[in-house]
Amino acid sequence: MTGWGSGESIVSDGLGSRTGVADAVVVGGGTVGAWCAWFLKQAGLSRVVLLEQGALGQGASSRAAGIVRSQGGTPTAVRLAEWTRAFYRSQSERLAIDSGFVRQGYYLPCFSEADEDAARERLAMQQAEGMDVAWMDAADAEALNPNMAPGLARGGTFHAEDGWIHPPRNVLAYTAAMLAAGVEVHERTAFLGLEERHGHLVAVETSRGRLPTGRLVLTGGPELAEVGRRAGTTIPSGGARHQVAVTATHPDLQAGDWPMVFDLQAGLYWRPEEGGLLFGMSNPAEEPGEAREIDGAYLALMQERLATLVPVTKNLPLRRIWVGTIDYTPDHLPILGPVLRHGEPVEGTTVASAGGHGMMWGPGVSRVAADLALEGTSALVDASILGLDRFDGQGRSRLATDPIALPFPEVTGQVATGLG
Ligand SMILES: Cc1cc2nc3c(=O)[nH]c(=O)nc-3n(C[C@H](O)[C@H](O)[C@H](O)COP(=O)(O)OP(=O)(O)OC[C@H]3O[C@@H](n4cnc5c(N)ncnc54)[C@H](O)[C@@H]3O)c2cc1C
Repeated sequence: MTGWGSGESIVSDGLGSRTGVADAVVVGGGTVGAWCAWFLKQAGLSRVVLLEQGALGQGASSRAAGIVRSQGGTPTAVRLAEWTRAFYRSQSERLAIDSGFVRQGYYLPCFSEADEDAARERLAMQQAEGMDVAWMDAADAEALNPNMAPGLARGGTFHAEDGWIHPPRNVLAYTAAMLAAGVEVHERTAFLGLEERHGHLVAVETSRGRLPTGRLVLTGGPELAEVGRRAGTTIPSGGARHQVAVTATHPDLQAGDWPMVFDLQAGLYWRPEEGGLLFGMSNPAEEPGEAREIDGAYLALMQERLATLVPVTKNLPLRRIWVGTIDYTPDHLPILGPVLRHGEPVEGTTVASAGGHGMMWGPGVSRVAADLALEGTSALVDASILGLDRFDGQGRSRLATDPIALPFPEVTGQVATGLG
């Protein structure tokens, strides 16, 4: 192991070696950590160091379906998503490579009176937040999306501005942005712990030695609970299997001009993908944990539900299937706030999680994390309610759960922090 100030081992990354204190250290080279490092550098910090235990994008960020949805169930979700979508749309003006945002429109159908009541209530909240979202009646929705089985939905909410990004391209975009801005990126370098003095951060311990700093942003996606343990705090977040598949092409799907759809009741979403249809879902009854295997039986249930709603997909072969570990938080809301030790904040630290919404909220969460690291507050959302102090000892949140989320695993009475 070589010290950061020694001028020896970091040269092996081809990034050169620097001595002394870092102005900020960011843990995790996924979309949340990387965009945060870029924002910190853009804000004028001189030495911003990003630590990634493996390779940039190796976590959830390269495996996502890319859905970017502003139709959240809470004002926090709406603000983060609206900001993030605007960020994606503005990337090409500022950056060499953008994240590949495609504006497609998103329809959330309602299948019961209760669904409709809840949707209309959410709609009022979203409109009050300034979103241009509307109720679409069944006939208009069927005209807009002729692939959907007619007569099942009562209509639903529709937002024309929602869309998707291309997740591997997002990894490329943040990598290029960080390197162009001069963020010091260190792959294969793990965060091991933090050192505090009188409640203030003074250094981080890494697999390549001790690095003095007064600012630290901790991310980790599905592995955030373990990152927290290394920092000496409890973070009630976890990871669970999430499956995504793409059907073969079909003439009726070829045009790809139909909106994305989220069947909220089932937790199934789909969107156009190269002449076929991409769809994804998690099994809420499954034990959380790191996921590498495809669950064929559950995939068959997903296909069955899909075929009910989009009949053309019945018996349509699949041409791609993948599985990833998706991050989640107990209330499906982001975590943004300092590391707590014995209930007290460690000054200079910020924990950042997008709670399984890193494509739709990631850069927004990163922006808030950078604001907190620099100023202790953010104009984007009220971060004072999003910290770790909202959870009790069992990981239960005092905030109401965001109802517009994938049905992630929930264990009654305590939070399932699946990745240990
Ligand atoms: C299959 C799938 C589909 C998804 N679809 C969508 C979608 O359509 N829309 C959407 O909004 N979200 C989606 N998500 C969720 C989204 O991908 C995540 O919320 C997001 O990528 C999380 O970003 P992150 O940077 O927090 O975590 P990650 O991308 O997982 O990055 C965390 C990084 O931290 C590193 N790390 C961990 N521990 C340490 C350590 N001790 N030291 C140094 N580095 C460490 C890891 O190696 C990893 O690279 C999906 C996720 C999956 C798996």
